[in-house]
Amino acid sequence: RLKEGRALALDVWTIFSAVNLPADCINLGQGYMNFAPPKWVTDAAEAALNTVAPNHYSHPRGRIRLREAIKGFYGPQFNRDLDVESEILVTSGANEGQYSVFTAFLEQGDEVIMFEPFFDQYLPSVTFNGGKPVYVPLHPPKDSLTKPTSDDWTIDIDELRRAITPRAKMIIVNTPHNPVGKVFTKAELKAIAAIAEEFNLLVMADEVYDCLVFDGKEHVRIANLPGMWDRTVTVGSAGKAFAATGWRIGWLIGPKSIIQPTLAASTRIVFCSNSPLQEAAASGLELAREKKFFETQLSEYAERRDILTKAFDDLGLKYTHPEGSYFILLDISQVDFPENYPFPDSVLGRGRDFRACWFIANEIGVSSIPVSEFYCEEHANIGEAYARFAFCKDVDTLRRAAERFQALQ
Ligand code: GLN
Repeated sequence: RLKEGRALALDVWTIFSAVNLPADCINLGQGYMNFAPPKWVTDAAEAALNTVAPNHYSHPRGRIRLREAIKGFYGPQFNRDLDVESEILVTSGANEGQYSVFTAFLEQGDEVIMFEPFFDQYLPSVTFNGGKPVYVPLHPPKDSLTKPTSDDWTIDIDELRRAITPRAKMIIVNTPHNPVGKVFTKAELKAIAAIAEEFNLLVMADEVYDCLVFDGKEHVRIANLPGMWDRTVTVGSAGKAFAATGWRIGWLIGPKSIIQPTLAASTRIVFCSNSPLQEAAASGLELAREKKFFETQLSEYAERRDILTKAFDDLGLKYTHPEGSYFILLDISQVDFPENYPFPDSVLGRGRDFRACWFIANEIGVSSIPVSEFYCEEHANIGEAYARFAFCKDVDTLRRAAERFQALQ
């Protein structure tokens, strides 16, 4: 007998995957790139494949060269001399790292607080490990705002406080945020940190989009706020950093008290992560500074974002201007479509946004992700007002997508 509940229902990535959409549909749905990682990084992958050792199991903590590279790159950002033996864990993508933290720390019925909307993977990762998600709203921009930014999605600290029960164990803080693009301010993070201290919560800082912070905003690491290192684990991703989402290489950085139990869980779940690609990720981090890789990449992403937002502006469509990550939330509450359109059952059983995204993908030829998936069932109606477009695609693809929208004028 299958387990019940949404966690094992058909997921949004499968429903809106390219194979289910017309062949010429431009894929701005799932967040992955249509360009290669930098050549100097793939060269390192090739070299690793042609060397004996990296073709075999790595240490469950990760290959030492990658742990050293993480220490070299992130140590200064945390202002710490990171210990490669106890404060860094290489994981099979950020997902597995998060899953392993939950496995290590959650006991049946422990509550995990997350701001809603939330990256959909958190929900099954928490429930499969016996945890109970508790949702605190990121309030959408006021209707009166014609040009909202991701900053206009706000948190209410009293609401957060009221959500905490004696079973609360952990809080997830995702900045820059998927799907909103919000970059949490220092003031917001300080307020969250104060709550975490008061109620003795562990903090999972999902910062996989840390290299994508635009408009001069500052990426603040909650682990760096006073007193927070000991209760925070920070999640990173080679997939986002080096346009290599299929590599499944991520990392956790945090105190020994969090990394050691998580290592024990991770060892039993995957044993170790993809070994040759750890060498490639190590090269990426080792050389990024001298190549000014992240600075260049950031300006390329800003250009990609602006192609799409300009198309929405030209059409007079409302969207959230993202200050981080690579997603744009388009307000689709005013987008009309025929209800008798031939929708598949997988879409018919879900919210209005699933139908709108299906219609836009099939009729305009640009796919996106319906945002109700990033809400719990009870609050799904809030997400139904939005479609999420990913702009981690090459300029040419984004221009073609923009043209398809502009042709509607
Ligand atoms: N993080 C990516 C996105 O939000 C990929 C989703 C996934 O892991 N399935 O699009």
